[in-house]
This record gives sequence, C-alpha cells and structure tokens, in this order.
Amino acid sequence: MNVYYSRKKPFEELPEEMTAIWLCSGESCKRWMRDNFTFSLTPVCPECHSEMVRGEKMLTTLTNTSPNQHKDRR
Ligand SMILES: [Zn+2]
Repeated sequence: MNVYYSRKKPFEELPEEMTAIWLCSGESCKRWMRDNFTFSLTPVCPECHSEMVRGEKMLTTLTNTSPNQHKDRR
C-alpha cells in the first residue's frame, strides 16, 4: 500500500506556511512544538528533557475558529 501521497493531498487544501517551531535535540525523540509561547529561554523537551532547538516546519495556518462552539443548554 502506498503511504506516500507525493504532493497531491486527498484532503481539501489548507493554507500552509513556514512556521517557527522548537525541535527536540534528543536522539530518538521527535517531539516538536509550535513556537506560540514566546519562550524567552530555550524550552526543554517535556518528554526527554533535552534542549530544544529552533526550527521551521510547513504547517497549516492556525485559525481560531472553533468547530465546537457552545450551543444553547437545555
Ligand atoms: Zn525529547
């Protein structure tokens, strides 16, 4: 079974942009997080406690529209 969908995505196109992220520098750890939290210090990986390094990743642009808005209570 072909897992790789080259460049064509089966999903609807979402806008992507290079987003600043933090990457774990741990050898076997692939943890990363968005740079949304304006760290003043280098963050530490919550899993393996390695230093995290700055990086970039193509991510879908975040939108703040929540699909789960509260509806009227019954
Ligand atoms: Zn880690």
